Amino acid sequence: MNRRFPSNCGCGAGITTFTSGTQENSGHPFFRCETRGEDHLFKWVEEAMLEELEDVLPKVEVHETKLGKVKSEIKELMEIALNNKIEIQKNKVVIKGLVVYACIVTVAFGAYVLF
Ligand SMILES: [Zn+2]
Repeated sequence: MNRRFPSNCGCGAGITTFTSGTQENSGHPFFRCETRGEDHLFKWVEEAMLEELEDVLPKVEVHETKLGKVKSEIKELMEIALNNKIEIQKNKVVIKGLVVYACIVTVAFGAYVLF
């Protein structure tokens, strides 16, 4: 039998959900072929749900691992961006210093030429 939720019976007919009325399984839902034929599909919904979970959980774990890697990559990029910002601030200070120095040299040179 196919795992997970059935979409149709092997005979090609659709699936309907019923609720068990037997004393043993009272209230338990199940999938059954629309034709209700004896040898056609019958499956407990709980069983199908368990199979869905078993198949999906490993995929969730893979996504969690990938997400963890992406998070650490983002953290690294944030650190690089912060360091670049600090470098830019330092360079601005150096450039300002050089401009001031250039102005002083120009004025001093002008004074030297004039006097
Ligand atoms: Zn069928």
